[in-house]
Order: sequence, then C-alpha cells, then structure tokens
Amino acid sequence: MNIFNYNSIQVLAETDIIVIGGGSAGCLAALAARENKRHDVVLIERYGFPGGTSTQMLDTFYGFFTPGTLPKKIVSGLPDRIVNALDETGDIFLRPNTYGAGTGVTYNPERLKRVWDNLIMQSGTRLFLHTILVDVEKSSDDETICIVWHKSGFFKIKARRVIDASGDADFCHLGNLPYELAGELEPAQSMTTTFRMAGVNLQRFKDAGGKTLLKLKMAEAVELGTHPLPRKEGSAHEMVQKDCIATVAVKVTDLMALDIHDLTAAEVEGRKQAFIYEKFLREEVPGYEEAKIIGLSHQIGVRETRRVYGEYRLTKEDCLSAKKSPDDVFLCGAPIEDHRKGERGEAETVWAYIPGGDVYGVPYQTLVPKGSRNAWVAGRCFSATHDAHASCRSMAQTMSMGQAAGTAALLSLETDNGSGNLDVQQLRNELSKLGALLEVPDKEADISRNGWKNNQI
Ligand SMILES: Cc1cc2nc3c(=O)[nH]c(=O)nc-3n(C[C@H](O)[C@H](O)[C@H](O)COP(=O)(O)OP(=O)(O)OC[C@H]3O[C@@H](n4cnc5c(N)ncnc54)[C@H](O)[C@@H]3O)c2cc1C
Repeated sequence: MNIFNYNSIQVLAETDIIVIGGGSAGCLAALAARENKRHDVVLIERYGFPGGTSTQMLDTFYGFFTPGTLPKKIVSGLPDRIVNALDETGDIFLRPNTYGAGTGVTYNPERLKRVWDNLIMQSGTRLFLHTILVDVEKSSDDETICIVWHKSGFFKIKARRVIDASGDADFCHLGNLPYELAGELEPAQSMTTTFRMAGVNLQRFKDAGGKTLLKLKMAEAVELGTHPLPRKEGSAHEMVQKDCIATVAVKVTDLMALDIHDLTAAEVEGRKQAFIYEKFLREEVPGYEEAKIIGLSHQIGVRETRRVYGEYRLTKEDCLSAKKSPDDVFLCGAPIEDHRKGERGEAETVWAYIPGGDVYGVPYQTLVPKGSRNAWVAGRCFSATHDAHASCRSMAQTMSMGQAAGTAALLSLETDNGSGNLDVQQLRNELSKLGALLEVPDKEADISRNGWKNNQI
C-alpha cells in the first residue's frame, strides 16, 4: 500500500513462515508448519488470545462428521489433536445439529483458549498476540516484508513464506492479490452476535417441549409482534457448562464488515438484538425464567468478507456433485448453509445438501492465491464462490485448510518450490502421514454423545 517511510521501521522478527491470524485455520497452519521443527514459524494475532471465531464466539466444531443416516468421520490429523486435548479434561460432547448439518463437537471455548495456547507454545511457534498486520512493504519470490502494529508502534516482520489466515484476506488485500468482495456478486451472508445464558432450567425447558416449543414461541412472537425478534429460527443449544445455553440467532444484514461505520453499527445492533432475545426467552419460554446473558461474543460474527481468487475456485457444482480430484487436500460433507436477509417469503437460511450423504474434495489450488509464488490462503477467505463457501466454512474444514497450507509451506521450503508449482502428490503423502483423511472411510462413525474416542483411527 506504501503509506509508510519504510526505512525508519525496525525489524521485529525474521522468519521462515509467517502466519497472519490465529483463528482455527491460522493455528493449524502454524502447528503443521512446525511439525518437523526444522523451520521457524511466527504467528501474529490481533486479539489477546488465539482461536479466532472458535474462541471469540462459538462452541461447536461442525464438519468432522457427514450428515445423514450413515455418518462418516471425514476430517482427521492435527484437528483431532485439538479435540483430543479438550476431551482429556471432559470439555466436549457430541451433539446432533439442529438443522441436520451433521453431528457437531460441542466444547468449552474458554478451555479451548488454553488448548490453543499450549499446543502453539509446545510447537515452538513464535506467537505475537495483540499484533496486527497493517501493510505489506514488498513481496518477492524469496522474501516478503510485512508491516505490523502493536502498542509499541510499527515493525517489520521478514518472512520467506506467508500464510494469510486473517479471515478477511488482509494480506492478499494489502499485497494486491485478487479477491471477490462478499456482496459484490451475491448478497453477503448476515452477521451474528452470539450469546451465552446461565441459569437455564434445562429439565423444565425439555419437559415443556424443548426445541420444538422454542421454535413455535419464536414464530408466535414474530407473528403477534410481542417481541421484535430478528429471526424465527436459530440454534439454542446446551453448553459444556451446566445449565448454560449458547444461542446463534441474532441477524444483522445489509451492513459491510469491512466498512468501519457499518461494522460499528453492526456491533451495536447485534448486542441490542441479543437482549431482545433475552427478554423474549425469560418471558415466553419455560425454563428460562431465571436465566441471564453471561457472555456476548467478543465481536460480532462475520461469515464472509473477502474471498480470494485462487489458482482454483471451488464452486456450488463441485460441492453438490460431490466432485473429487487427485489434487484434493481435505474433504467436506456439509450442506450449503446460506444465511440471508429472509424478505418477501424467502427463507432466512437456505440449505442445499450433497445428495446421498456424499462428500466432495477440496483441491490444493483453492489455497493458492492467483499470481502468488510464496503465499497461501487458509480459512474463510479461501478461493470459493459465495455458495461453495457457504458449505465449506465449518471449523473442521478451516482447520483442514490450515493443516494443508502449513504443510505446503513447509514442503515448499524443503523442496525449494513456490506455492504454485508444488508437487501436490507429495503434499498429499505428507498430509496422510499426519493422519489427514483424503478418502472417505468405510467405517460408520460413532455419533453418540460420548462417542468421540471411538472414532480415532
Ligand atoms: C455467527 C457464526 C456462526 C458460525 N457457526 C459455526 C458453528 O457452529 N460451527 C462451525 O464449525 N463453524 C461455524 N461458523 C463458521 C466458522 O466459525 C468460521 O468459518 C471459521 O471459524 C473461520 O476460521 P478462520 O480461521 O478462517 O477465521 P477466524 O476465526 O475469523 O480467524 C481469523 C483470525 O485472524 C485474526 N486477524 C484478522 N485480521 C488480522 C490482522 N490484520 N492481523 C492479525 N490478526 C488478524 C482475527 O483476530 C482472528 O483471530 C460460524 C461463523 C459465524 C460467523
């Protein structure tokens, strides 16, 4: 972008691989890149804890299991290490998805912060929290200079390879790599402030009709106008913490998360809506009479902003035809789940399932920004159309993208190849050694509440 006098900026670090953003994709990218401990890895994260959306606002990993009557576990390798670590302290259970997107792994997000901390520190990754990428000075085949900011000022980080896991493709934006802006071609998915309530009498709630009753009450409140709820649907589910419920129901539309006026308005609106739900739940739903909000998401949940144009673009047809290719680096069986405004009779969430409970493969080239030689993109800003992204954005998949991008960056250093001319078969071999699944297993998954352990390979 060239807004600085670069000569006056000090060097904070020199590294082999820099990962921008410590969300589920970025953490996995760093772990994968440090797997053989031969190369230095720096991970920068703008907040004070790792995890991104996984710890800021959510509590359920989707995408490990396919939906349908014959569920299969289709994601494995390093993502399993995260869930296994949570399982060791009794911080997970398996939970059927309310809308049939497949079984989720519900976890304690506060414990997950410690899990990310521990695994990243043990891997020897150099972690810089409260550090934000603000510019890219130069990017050549062998060196990129990132400009970062933290409370002491602006600094340079020099890296041989870059993984953009910022969710918003900040590196690609600042480094002039091509992307589509959500909302440009199709309406961007809505934003959601999630909230957690304590003091719910779950037995009373279940006895009164549970989720079925909740759905009826929501529809009734909207029809009669008793509570100005923005949505008639949404997930309200039991948490790992006793008598607590997590709710994903707020809906903020028509605002752009990359515009500061819009984002500010969205944060304010999201919190307002959360407390409208609190009032509704306390007044209308048995079991919630004494319940109160104990936590709002750290920031409003943003589903999509920039989606990079990569060497390949995942499409709706690829997803719904269960396409597989020799270049696949992970699998996805999740339906398209498109959160819309829901006006004029249109559904609020549009679902499209992969026929027969099948899965599609995601090619390596969706992680390689077009025209880059030393960069990868991982996570919700990867190369996909609006619809394909609405299927392939669950955290088991974003972790898999990180696993693939981190392994690819490592391989590119070891073989002295750029991101665009890596031997994809060699990458797949490395991913298989990590335990990543590139073929659908025959075995049916155990999706019972405590079944996680039985699905380990
Ligand atoms: C409301 C909502 C509900 C969802 N529900 C589910 C669900 O129940 N289950 C599921 O599996 N998936 C769900 N998803 C999807 C899923 O959570 C996301 O697609 C996924 O977490 C994205 O991971 P990521 O690592 O790509 O990005 P993020 O989690 O957004 O991580 C990006 C990280 O980069 C950091 N960052 C950003 N810019 C910079 C910068 N310039 N410099 C330094 N750091 C930076 C951010 O602070 C963040 O930590 C949901 C998403 C939303 C928004």
